[in-house]
Amino acid sequence: MTSKYNIMGLTNFITGILLLAIFGAISCQTKTNEGKSAGTMGDIVKDIHSFSQPNEAVVRHMNLDLYVDFAQKQIRGTAELEFVAKPNAEKLILDTKNLKIESITYANGDKAAYKLLEEDPIFGSALEVKLNGSINKIIIKYATGHGAEALQWLGATQTADKTDPFLFTQSQAILARSWIPLQDSPGVRFTYTAKVTVPKGFLVLMSAENPQQASEDGIYHFKMEQPIPSYLMALAVGRIDFAPIGVRTGVYAELSMLGRAKSEFSEMEDMLRIAEKLYGEYRWGRYDLIVLPPSFPFGGMENPRITFATPTILAGDKSLTSLVAHELAHSWSGNLVTNATWSDFWLNEGFTVYFETRIMEALKGKDYADMLSALSQQGLEEEVANFMDSGQESDTKLKLDLTGRNPDDGVTSIAYDKGYFFLKYLEEYVGREKFDVFLKKYFEELAFTSNNTERFLIYLNENLFKKNGLKPMADLNDWVYGTGLPESMPKVHSARFEEIDSALLQWKEGNIAFSTEAWSSHEWVHFIKNLPYEMDQKSMTQLDAQFDFTHSGNAEILGVWYVHCARHLYQSSFEAMEQFLVTTGRRKFLTPIYGELITTAKGKDLALSIYKNARPNYHFVAISSLDKLLY
Ligand SMILES: [Zn+2]
Repeated sequence: MTSKYNIMGLTNFITGILLLAIFGAISCQTKTNEGKSAGTMGDIVKDIHSFSQPNEAVVRHMNLDLYVDFAQKQIRGTAELEFVAKPNAEKLILDTKNLKIESITYANGDKAAYKLLEEDPIFGSALEVKLNGSINKIIIKYATGHGAEALQWLGATQTADKTDPFLFTQSQAILARSWIPLQDSPGVRFTYTAKVTVPKGFLVLMSAENPQQASEDGIYHFKMEQPIPSYLMALAVGRIDFAPIGVRTGVYAELSMLGRAKSEFSEMEDMLRIAEKLYGEYRWGRYDLIVLPPSFPFGGMENPRITFATPTILAGDKSLTSLVAHELAHSWSGNLVTNATWSDFWLNEGFTVYFETRIMEALKGKDYADMLSALSQQGLEEEVANFMDSGQESDTKLKLDLTGRNPDDGVTSIAYDKGYFFLKYLEEYVGREKFDVFLKKYFEELAFTSNNTERFLIYLNENLFKKNGLKPMADLNDWVYGTGLPESMPKVHSARFEEIDSALLQWKEGNIAFSTEAWSSHEWVHFIKNLPYEMDQKSMTQLDAQFDFTHSGNAEILGVWYVHCARHLYQSSFEAMEQFLVTTGRRKFLTPIYGELITTAKGKDLALSIYKNARPNYHFVAISSLDKLLY
């Protein structure tokens, strides 16, 4: 991509802030808020995706008492909210979506006056609770509604062990409000405790201090002492077992997956040590991971202390564990220093991809990390080209405009990979040593706070450029506020992929005698992705006869191979592809395959018939994207 990006979308306000930033006329207001509160009243950035007005009254602590009812597919109980309000504040405003509010009382037992406002299809309903003098605690009795969007209730047959039902939540970005009444904004942080009651024999895990075995009575108590934003509220309930990995690390999974999970993730403790060495102390106590049933819509979700992960990374050869490095890195970028609004999502994800790559470089070497970067670059270039072609140029900006939109629209490779390459560019500009000092200080000084793009740029100017006597790069603002990919985008050279490129050339010339023994799944993914866009059935059949991609045990390989199969309606793959689509709920794989199928009439028929069977197995997050794509 050439430098056809512009900064016309800048508002005067932002331009003003930036000029101030660049000339260092104002300094960043940063506070260290370790383990206490986050930010002072009045300095929380306005979040267009939340009805709450935290600068008037802000929730600081929550006590939950919840009952998980598998038969009714409902969570019900109470949420006790402790808040701080401005002296003249009249109401506490919360976010809810499809919640049944039974009653609200003040801490003194009096009934509270409240109003549940009209529901917006994306954002839900504001819940306005009238404040009562100096009382700073309310108790809300409530139940989740039918089809609560954060919750996925799985029947026994949809689990790995197939013996019992399973429940997990996915709260990011704005789905926490569908299972807890709260201020659902990443700019608001709170601590919490929870009592959760489930059927006997089930284990419960939350984004908190977790048990390692099932309780006798089905009652569990949780405590999260570090303040977190609402999107990190998480709950999983099922027949789950635990296996330790290191002193601070371990895995949870259904029994039939536990052994595989333990060996797949045996490097977790090493990753944790590497991460701490890079950017400072791990602040959350333990770091565990749960392997969820296959319908989990993402690769992983960085719920504090307990990453939720897809079983599609159980490849048997540890080849897909960079995902663990990614989720672990979020313990700093995202969970410790959080994007203040979803328009600043790149602050969470760009930093995390950068950090993940650094962990993998330290763990497996530079040539390995270069492969990850090269894959990320190729994916980014493709996605930017798609945005440009479809007239969505403004969605290629790091700082997104998500006004009136679902923040889920911002989950693209722009936040992840353009964000990553921006940081890589910064690293190359100032040198790795200085950049590492800067990042470590950033995580330390801004720990337990939320930060938006404008505040970050001010901080960057003060602490990276000015401190080192450097001028910001001339195209700094183009990177953040411009569209497309700047010319200064770092170019990745992967020595290992160069070998694959020469194998591809040989294959195109009809020579299939190249050696593939040392190839990792990344090399295979690069090979498959870079096969010719158009292939005849003979080539597809020949590739499959030689490498059997159709039945690979590696989900990343299947994910890219089935795109070719869908494009060329390669019939021999249909049965296995259908099986994959029906059992896997990870959106990253689903969207490209379905997207390719619907480009032909025959493929579309196939896509619709598979989707009909598969849809009940998917989480709301995947369903809402695929409904848009297919219907
Ligand atoms: Zn992430």
